Amino acid sequence: MTIPTTTSVAPDPSRLAMHPDCRPSSQKEGPGSGSPTRSQVKILVVEDEVKSAISLEKGMREHGFAVQLASNGEEGLRRALAEPFDVIVLDIMLPLMDGRAVLRELRKRGSQTPVVFLTARDAVEDRVEGLELGADDYLVKPFAFSELIARVRSVMRRGAQRQTDPMRIGDLEIDLVRHKAARAGSALELTPKEFALLYLLVRQRGEVLSRTMICQQVWDMNFDSDTNVVDVHVRRLRAKLDDPFPTKLIHTVRGLGYVFDEKR
Ligand code: CA
Repeated sequence: MTIPTTTSVAPDPSRLAMHPDCRPSSQKEGPGSGSPTRSQVKILVVEDEVKSAISLEKGMREHGFAVQLASNGEEGLRRALAEPFDVIVLDIMLPLMDGRAVLRELRKRGSQTPVVFLTARDAVEDRVEGLELGADDYLVKPFAFSELIARVRSVMRRGAQRQTDPMRIGDLEIDLVRHKAARAGSALELTPKEFALLYLLVRQRGEVLSRTMICQQVWDMNFDSDTNVVDVHVRRLRAKLDDPFPTKLIHTVRGLGYVFDEKR
């Protein structure tokens, strides 16, 4: 069994947003240096109890998973929205934002990532509420580690099936399996980069994304800020996504970046 050397290197979006430049990725740490290989299952563990988080991380790595940790609800939500995970293991009692609120927000934003709730309580109402919110499974602490691994594998199988359903926001439809998008029933002919850009904006909708963050997330690298690559792609995406329609979905926030908002 090989233990992945990956550490939690996912850039903190709030820091990225303030990053003054956009240097080539070889000059700084970021995705690429410690990113998991494509075949590796990516798990986000949101757990505030340090001992428990560390032992979960260690155990999961020994099972070949790439693990990232978040120690409070806000950080967990931010990480969950910033990049795709296969499964999120989400503690319910968390500082800043509890697990239920994190899950509610994730589902509201269209995230279909399977979630396994961890709770110290076995109250029936907790369980019902969690499942109603869209949790995929539930584990009561203390639990055997092998049980968690079994649940994670099982929700992943179910999640893979569910993700074949297209995502819908108003008249926009996004098919994550086929990498296709349509608006008002007509297909948008998007390049792979335009699709990735659209998907990022949709996942983080309502939030302003800086050019630096967009180039990190969509190109998995950094560009010189003067290449304008983000602006060029946003313009091309808008020509297909927004220009033919009265309701605009992508908005420019001067000096900050771009935001996807279907209600403006
Ligand atoms: Ca906790």
